[in-house]
Amino acid sequence: MQVDVVVVGGGVVGAACALALARQGLEVELVEAAVPRPWSSEVPDLRVFALAGDNVALLDSLGVWESIRGARAHPYRRMRVWDAAGGDELDFKADAFGRRELGWIVENGLLVERLSAALPAAGVEVRRPEKVAALAQDADGVRLELEGGSRISARLAVAADGADSALRRASGVGTCGRDYGQRGVVGYVRTEEPHGDTAWQRFLPGGPLAFLPCTDGSCSIVWSQPEDQARRVLALDEAAFGEELARAFGGRLGEVRLISQRAAFPLRLQLADAAMAGRLLLLGDAAHVVHPLAGQGVNLGLRDVAGLVELVSAGRGWDSPHRLQRWARARRSENTVAALGFDAIDRVFSNDAVLPTLLRGHLFGAAARIPPMAHLLWRRAAGL
Ligand SMILES: Cc1cc2nc3c(=O)[nH]c(=O)nc-3n(C[C@H](O)[C@H](O)[C@H](O)COP(=O)(O)OP(=O)(O)OC[C@H]3O[C@@H](n4cnc5c(N)ncnc54)[C@H](O)[C@@H]3O)c2cc1C
Repeated sequence: MQVDVVVVGGGVVGAACALALARQGLEVELVEAAVPRPWSSEVPDLRVFALAGDNVALLDSLGVWESIRGARAHPYRRMRVWDAAGGDELDFKADAFGRRELGWIVENGLLVERLSAALPAAGVEVRRPEKVAALAQDADGVRLELEGGSRISARLAVAADGADSALRRASGVGTCGRDYGQRGVVGYVRTEEPHGDTAWQRFLPGGPLAFLPCTDGSCSIVWSQPEDQARRVLALDEAAFGEELARAFGGRLGEVRLISQRAAFPLRLQLADAAMAGRLLLLGDAAHVVHPLAGQGVNLGLRDVAGLVELVSAGRGWDSPHRLQRWARARRSENTVAALGFDAIDRVFSNDAVLPTLLRGHLFGAAARIPPMAHLLWRRAAGL
């Protein structure tokens, strides 16, 4: 029997994709390698996203946002970005866009849990834990052989199996990019001064440091640093870590106290050479991995999903090669511009050479002094 779409990978992007396509009336199966740990309000997930407004609207249209928001999500109403070497500061407030908030801070584990929980009722058959052993395709569809021995035939396959996508490799799609030689150190902290519902980011020569506002007054941090420095701060005891973090943040929110475990993720830029290979589409980190400095990784992946929903809702013929090709071109172009933009920012800001240091204070100044430019940039980033 052939289903319409098989989605491989049940992270945020894959689970949202399976749910969205099923809600469009398609017959969908999802294959996921892992059994997710249930989300617990007691032990917050260290991987935290700043979800943009358009993606919150997507989750709302899928009927899961109220449950996520009710469990734990915190709005950020302001964003302040500045450079450790001095210069002007970028400062955006939601009310300047006529909005109550710029976006929401949400945990990865909560998103995955609530999206996954909605799949059975939407008619999605979930195979988990299961992996793809072989992929074959022709002009009419794809055939997947699973490690457990079963097979799935579908008109279309979606690879949402993350940065090291096995489906991308199996379909022969290459990647380009670079290793940043940095790690993103993450954890939760409590600060002496209130976070003010603000997403804060300070650029340092080693990489940006972000404080994201969470419920109960705590902040989630993403501290991008060269590998050796990341290893060093992870080895510090809690008190020394808090002191160093407060110093790196320029003392903006006063003293800082670590209140959770710490973890670190390797950072890289990776772009798949194509977003489509025959009857296989690449979404999320399988197609693009970007620097976390703009908090856009999962946002770009959910926009891949929104683009696909738009395609399907156009009706009959949505999966013809030329329509899929149009989706693939549009997504690859938007994702490439975003990824290279973040890469350029990282090159200019994660640097203590004289010229970039002189330049960057002026960059924020210029953006701050040309409101239409600043508004355009932030409307795009925040999906407003
Ligand atoms: C430090 C850090 C901070 C970040 N902060 C932000 C942020 O603030 N905002 C933001 O938008 N993004 C952020 N990101 C990026 C974000 O984490 C990713 O973009 C996002 O998780 C990608 O989602 P995904 O569903 O595409 O992939 P993943 O979350 O990697 O999910 C892939 C899924 O596929 C499954 N899988 C893997 N292989 C197979 C297989 N062979 N068969 C079946 N299933 C398989 C996995 O088990 C997993 O469930 C951050 C990343 C880092 C490293």
